[in-house]
Amino acid sequence: MAISKSNFCISMKIFLADWILLITSPKIKNGAVVIADDGRIADVGIQQDILKKYSDKNIQVAESKNTIIMPGLVNAHTHLELSMMKGVIPRGLSFSDWVFEAITKRLQFNDATISADCEKQIHALEACGTVAVGDIANHSATSMPLLEKSSLYAVVFNEVTGFSGAVAQDRFQEFVNKISDTPHRNTRQALAPHAPYSVSPELFRLIAAYNSDSRISTVHLAESKDEIAFLQTGSGSMKEMIQKIGRWDENWKAPKTTPVSYLKKLGILNSKLLIVHAVHVTDDDIELLRSQSVHICSCPRSNVQIDVGGTAPIEKYLNAGLNVCLGTDSLASNDDLNLWNEMTFFKSIHPAIPNEKIIEMATINGARVLGFDSQIGSIEKGKDAALIRVESNKPIDDPESFVLSGYDRFSAVHINECAYRVYSHTSW
Ligand SMILES: [Zn+2]
Repeated sequence: MAISKSNFCISMKIFLADWILLITSPKIKNGAVVIADDGRIADVGIQQDILKKYSDKNIQVAESKNTIIMPGLVNAHTHLELSMMKGVIPRGLSFSDWVFEAITKRLQFNDATISADCEKQIHALEACGTVAVGDIANHSATSMPLLEKSSLYAVVFNEVTGFSGAVAQDRFQEFVNKISDTPHRNTRQALAPHAPYSVSPELFRLIAAYNSDSRISTVHLAESKDEIAFLQTGSGSMKEMIQKIGRWDENWKAPKTTPVSYLKKLGILNSKLLIVHAVHVTDDDIELLRSQSVHICSCPRSNVQIDVGGTAPIEKYLNAGLNVCLGTDSLASNDDLNLWNEMTFFKSIHPAIPNEKIIEMATINGARVLGFDSQIGSIEKGKDAALIRVESNKPIDDPESFVLSGYDRFSAVHINECAYRVYSHTSW
């Protein structure tokens, strides 16, 4: 275990709040969290019990009214390197047209702009109480060094593309060479095949063999009706888009099946895979996903901003016992990377899903799939104190509905700026 002492405060501290949302245990009214001098959660409980228990110790107590303490948020799907694309692509395009715009318009930005906007969004994530991201990186992996020096826990997924089967081996090797085995305190790397319309079956198989059941990975899947039609027929607007960008492979054959079933045949589905979007699936697909214990990341605002032609069946995923988390996707298809806004929107389109479940999706569920759940995502003794305090100007009766009521109603701050940066090199 490696601990960077320069990054945290040196004395134990007790934080009081009207509510403590532990996430993996029932919430506590008038609660207290004790943070040890090593930056970990030492204790949590009812205020009077905690204050009595630690009364003989000279510990600083931080009291605040109208507040909730909860774990910091986990944004499971971002593309920080696309932050310069905010507002660049018009809303309401078909999915294929949107992909064309995204591929071509990003080329107009230079490295300095990409890097500056990426860094700005990392600060924005930190400022709104995010503590971890699953981030997709492209060629230059600009986000990697910036994330390494940030406070965020991060998995940087190197996005692999290559629709021509002839280049599969070369592309695979190129991306594997990018992966560093040197562990960093809070940033890890992985491979992410982009999507069925940009990755050849040969390349998918190479990645599947490399990842096996032991490496985390992610893929954009079943996002749009264009993708569904393309895999069924091998033609349509998606094929035209691939031809337009000069990547079409005459040898590619439509699998004539669903995206989920296609990836099952290619060996990609497993319990380390995070499927992003998963909007268009059949009941058989859901059974397949359940049997392989894959994880799902929903990005509902992005799905509306690009017209994907549907809403992900989250209730069915939850009923099947799948681990579902939340992401914002990139600024090319969303207004901000603020997960509070994502939760509020999610609630508006999935009103039957309990508030507690939505907050789990934005905390522990994301931590679970990114492999950080032994450190963050819930308030438990021994975990890193990557905690935030939600502050209101009025008393809070129902903490879960309050945090879903709109980010303009509160602020979310890290409860102890220097306390939660405890980093460990756990096996992963
Ligand atoms: Zn994405």
